[in-house]
Amino acid sequence: MGNSKKDSKTKNKKVPLKGMMDNVMEQFNSAANHINLHPNIRKILSITNNEILVNFPVKMDNGEVEVFTGYRVQHNGALGPYKGGLRYHATVDLDAARALAMWMTWKTSLAGLPYGGAKGGIKIDPALYSENELERITRRFTYALADNIGPEHDIPAPDVNTNSQTMAWIADTYMSTRPPAQRSANQHVVTGKPDGSGGLEGRDRATGFGVYLTIKFWADKNDMELNGKKFIVQGFGNVGYWASHFLEKDGAKLVGVQDAQGSIQNQDGLDVEALFKYNLANKGTIVNYPDSTPVEKGEFFSLDCDICIPAALGNQITKKNAPNIKAKLIAEGANGPTNVEGEKILMERGIVIIPDILCNSGGVIGSYYEWLQNRSGEIWHLEEVMEKLRNKLKVSFDKVYNYSESEGIDMRTAAFCIAIERIEKAYVQRGIFP
Ligand code: GLU
Repeated sequence: MGNSKKDSKTKNKKVPLKGMMDNVMEQFNSAANHINLHPNIRKILSITNNEILVNFPVKMDNGEVEVFTGYRVQHNGALGPYKGGLRYHATVDLDAARALAMWMTWKTSLAGLPYGGAKGGIKIDPALYSENELERITRRFTYALADNIGPEHDIPAPDVNTNSQTMAWIADTYMSTRPPAQRSANQHVVTGKPDGSGGLEGRDRATGFGVYLTIKFWADKNDMELNGKKFIVQGFGNVGYWASHFLEKDGAKLVGVQDAQGSIQNQDGLDVEALFKYNLANKGTIVNYPDSTPVEKGEFFSLDCDICIPAALGNQITKKNAPNIKAKLIAEGANGPTNVEGEKILMERGIVIIPDILCNSGGVIGSYYEWLQNRSGEIWHLEEVMEKLRNKLKVSFDKVYNYSESEGIDMRTAAFCIAIERIEKAYVQRGIFP
């Protein structure tokens, strides 16, 4: 029990996300310094509200029992219920969940949503488990979290290696453990559900669409045509694929892709839809795609391109690769993909970053519409959802862009300042109990 091959594979994996807390705290502190944040509010926001760790047993297909460790960290709830994804990855631990929860607080605040920030997940490599095992793991995790989540308290969503199916299992388990009369009133305990069971049309593409939109808004402000521009994407999951799909529609050319298995390039352009089909048919990897040549892992970020979209894990752009990046614009589809040292180098080189809490906020904005739809009983269609997303993101983008111009600071610091000021206002108005 608990000592199978799967256990050791997952537990011995290298953890490359260490230091994410350092990054988010550095970003927070430089914005807090800029706005001269009151020391009391700084104290509150520097630490998480609640950290939940659960160990829970699950029966595997072969009859053995494995014990898994799951996390949910709730950073701050001043603006409303906690909100943020659940990821299934070998790098999930308390430090990663804390940092990612903090980024969610800034993201939801910046987007003007009535939410706080949370994040969590399970330290697991889902590729090592069958579909049935993943269902039981997810359901038992939901049961273990119990009332630490809830539709008006803490609302998980998809993140790395989780999807609408995962959310459907969570919703069903949560609803099934409520008294009968309360079941259907609880389906908004998670967002990112399949659109046949309480999900929102368009939630699947919301994050990637938002990444594309923020690039487009930036290009418009800077008289840049997207037509003919080359871009590279790290991660060809939900975010990477949809961002590529919308950029290609505007005439931009996908010239390089990296996933966990390897990297490919084609300077004449990779066909996004053909690559998507290839990826699906090849167990989720783009490696060996026929119309491409392989690229060394360490060379990927040095590929010739105009726009670079890290859409996988944190800490990918560092002092090692930042000096060689060719792109003029980095659009952060992932959370925390650029570390502090990497960012310093990019800034010195005049490379612009559209920061994660703005760039990938389309996902949580989509989640908000799903949550509203579930609460009100309305059903919105794709075009309406995309229009709402576009309008909301435009407001956020303009706020950040204008703040950064008027204060003479980078867009990340501007985005953090706006996000922190909104939370500060809530604390000032409400005061501190007792
Ligand atoms: N996991 C996504 C993020 O990092 C979505 C979170 C949500 O929709 O709650 O923003």
